[in-house]
Amino acid sequence: MIPFNKPFLTGKETQYIEEAVASGKISGNGDFTKKCQSFFEEKFNIKKALLTSSCTDALEMAAILLNIKEGDEIIMPSFTFVSTANAFILRGAKIIFADSKPYHPNIDETKIESLITSKTKAIVVVHYAGVACEMDTIMGLANKHNLFVVEDAAQAIDSYYKNKALGSIGHLATFSFHETKNIISGEGGLLAINEKQFIDRAEIIWEKGTNRASFFRGEISKYNWVDIGSSFLPSEVIAAFLWAQLELIDVIQKKRQLIWDAYYDKLRGLSDKKKLKLPLLPDFATNNAHMFYIVCESLEERAKLIAYLKLHNVSAVFHYLSLHESPFYIEKHDGRKLVNCDDFSDNLLRLPMFFELDLDQVELITNRLEQFYKD
Ligand SMILES: *Cc1c(COP(=O)(O)O)cnc(C)c1O
Repeated sequence: MIPFNKPFLTGKETQYIEEAVASGKISGNGDFTKKCQSFFEEKFNIKKALLTSSCTDALEMAAILLNIKEGDEIIMPSFTFVSTANAFILRGAKIIFADSKPYHPNIDETKIESLITSKTKAIVVVHYAGVACEMDTIMGLANKHNLFVVEDAAQAIDSYYKNKALGSIGHLATFSFHETKNIISGEGGLLAINEKQFIDRAEIIWEKGTNRASFFRGEISKYNWVDIGSSFLPSEVIAAFLWAQLELIDVIQKKRQLIWDAYYDKLRGLSDKKKLKLPLLPDFATNNAHMFYIVCESLEERAKLIAYLKLHNVSAVFHYLSLHESPFYIEKHDGRKLVNCDDFSDNLLRLPMFFELDLDQVELITNRLEQFYKD
């Protein structure tokens, strides 16, 4: 069976974990944490990076930092992971779901302004498959209406919008190192802070509502409880694992790109014959080869294709179910139809995509697709 995902190990993970353990400092915010954070700040031009235990945690920190409270409205795409919404729901916010673009699962920036009310506090964008949303338009809207922008860049490491790294554009941004992402630490995440005003408070929220980080830098003589917060920081064991991955980011990205390009080339024929749709890349966006998906004609066709591929030992999987129609939110949603989101929910199919997938396997998979669509 060709799995959908297989976590890639660089080989240095256990060595760095041993170093972290031997150092005697295995709780959070140690040397490996600092190395990983500096890496993000320097490579992606992020003002301040804080490692977290997950992207979910980073999103929850973002909601606390923005002082989201009961009755605030947050605009975000419906085609996303639950954590994007849940983080704001936990603070009492109402989610105003926006539709995707007709040709891409990303939020349709032309549909945002009509959703803004006096209660709107933030726009949360999700760079689906690591492909940038139209950030100039979105930041322009935020400036005009005095809103914050959070980038859910969980899938978007090392991807760019007009030469700016994703995660460096919004006021805040979040990354994931879950084992299904390009760069992994099992579970893991990062909060990127691009507004100076948030940095001090972010460190406090990160450290259980205390000014401990500042204490350890020698800036204050004792640490105290100064705000709300939680235990958002991962241990050095996780950071050590992550560092082994970040060191090899260029190798990892290059290999994934090779696989992505091979899929794209081999499926072009089927796309020309209108049998399936291939991912579209706007010219302002780069591709970080996080995911390779196709868009089928219908839910029925997709189900048949999944079963066909499974029969031939290939694991292909669909993705998000529209959040506005979820059991938890359907009654809270205002009833607007989000047709593009529903289409991607029904028709999008992700093919196996991982570092160790070799090009022969890609060919085997694309041959199967040709067989399926033969007549
Ligand atoms: C993976 C993912 C998350 C959650 O990341 P965790 O690190 O598992 O919490 C959130 N949003 C999006 C868009 C994701 O792809």
